[in-house]
Amino acid sequence: MLLLAVGVAAVLAILVTRGSNDSESSEPSNENTTNEAETVTKTTKEETPKTEVKADPVAEAPAEEVATEAPAEEAANEAPAEETADEAPAEETADETASDEAPTKAPQPEAAVTTTGLNGDDLGPNVVALLEVSGDHLGGAARATLAAAVQLAKATDVELHVCCLGSATQSAKEACVEGVTAVHTITNDAFNEPVAELYTAAALTALQATQASIVVAPASSVAKDYLPRVAETLGAGMISEAIAVDGPKTFKRALWAGSAIATVEAHSERLALTIQPTAFDPVKPGDGSTSAIEFEVPATKTRFIEFAGTVSERPSLGDAEVVVAGGRGCGVSGGESEFDFGPVENLADSLGGAIGASRAVVDAGWVPNDWQIGQTGKTVAPKLYIACGISGAIQHVAGMKGSKTIVAINKDPEAPIFQVADYGLVGDLHQLCPELIEKISNEGLKVG
Ligand SMILES: Cc1cc2nc3c(=O)[nH]c(=O)nc-3n(C[C@H](O)[C@H](O)[C@H](O)COP(=O)(O)OP(=O)(O)OC[C@H]3O[C@@H](n4cnc5c(N)ncnc54)[C@H](O)[C@@H]3O)c2cc1C
Repeated sequence: MLLLAVGVAAVLAILVTRGSNDSESSEPSNENTTNEAETVTKTTKEETPKTEVKADPVAEAPAEEVATEAPAEEAANEAPAEETADEAPAEETADETASDEAPTKAPQPEAAVTTTGLNGDDLGPNVVALLEVSGDHLGGAARATLAAAVQLAKATDVELHVCCLGSATQSAKEACVEGVTAVHTITNDAFNEPVAELYTAAALTALQATQASIVVAPASSVAKDYLPRVAETLGAGMISEAIAVDGPKTFKRALWAGSAIATVEAHSERLALTIQPTAFDPVKPGDGSTSAIEFEVPATKTRFIEFAGTVSERPSLGDAEVVVAGGRGCGVSGGESEFDFGPVENLADSLGGAIGASRAVVDAGWVPNDWQIGQTGKTVAPKLYIACGISGAIQHVAGMKGSKTIVAINKDPEAPIFQVADYGLVGDLHQLCPELIEKISNEGLKVG
């Protein structure tokens, strides 16, 4: 329903009445990042389900395939930029060349072992869900992955094992839910450093220990990095960011910012699958016993140096029940700054929510990159999403349309965002946000 009104009463009404499901989220969505050589793709527009699109550029020239021909890491390993610079700095080389001496060849680093040596021989038919865990409870993305894995194991008629990876895996017991045969853990401090080779080795160990040849993981940034490697090692088909399980080998994926849905089918016995967590209702946390899988941390060709995350008191975009996002409408003229995100930040804080943004304002440098929501940003599905001064471009909507209730504040009554909004306020966000905050504060409203 689209209700356009200059006023705040309708919005406030939903703040206290709407939304009861868990919120879910996923990491930023990379486009075309997976090898789908083992899959066939049939693309169908949502509105006209029988229309087939023959050419799917994603399937024809997957980015991962190109990357595997000359992996950046291997190239870096042969002559790492940093090390080369340390050992034979450009200036020195120039001096040596000038004095007619042969330039010193930078020593090559020793070859490192990349995996535990497993290659996936003698795997069984089971499904294993790999979950990155930390803390005392399973997050929404992990529980959504479990939901997808339960569906897949049922469709395949095999056992479903879960393997939780992390430096602290006490939350694994919550993965003991209906449909799961056994829950395992691989606990090691090494997982604090998200090196893909490490996770690949752990995944192969888990596959062998659980007699599985089908592996499912959430489309997290870590899994997007390591799961294609697992698929390559196993010779498995790889299907990325599935939004539905149609059968043992058949899945749905969103294409072109969700404007088309592709049905894809794996033709291989072995399968690696990432799922889009916001597309599945998370299972309720269970309780039960788990068993540890032994794992030998391999030497890796890459090493972790630093994680430069944003520190914030606010809830993360992935976990927040409320997300308030700002767009180019936060711009101001005539002041010291060309923008004012204050109304958006204050509204988010008044509701205990997280802050998001459109790509336009991220690209403009107004806000940090990790606030971006959309096709090339994060996907969120909170109970309440308030879009302030965001036009509603398809690429933005792709990242928030799963929200339970969407409120749009925009001064243009024709803005496309109103087509996906449940409630709309037409007006200036710099005026309407403070009005909303005042009502929320005066009446002690919160999202329930
Ligand atoms: C390949 C690709 C990937 C992309 N990925 C993303 C992505 O992940 N996320 C994303 O967001 N975009 C993405 N984009 C960009 C996207 O197409 C839009 O350009 C962008 O979302 C527009 O941001 P905006 O809505 O803030 O700005 P605009 O489109 O300029 O809209 C600003 C809105 O603010 C309103 N407004 C202005 N002043 C006020 C005011 N004072 N009060 C209230 N309303 C006001 C205007 O009416 C307008 O509707 C992508 C584009 C491409 C091509």
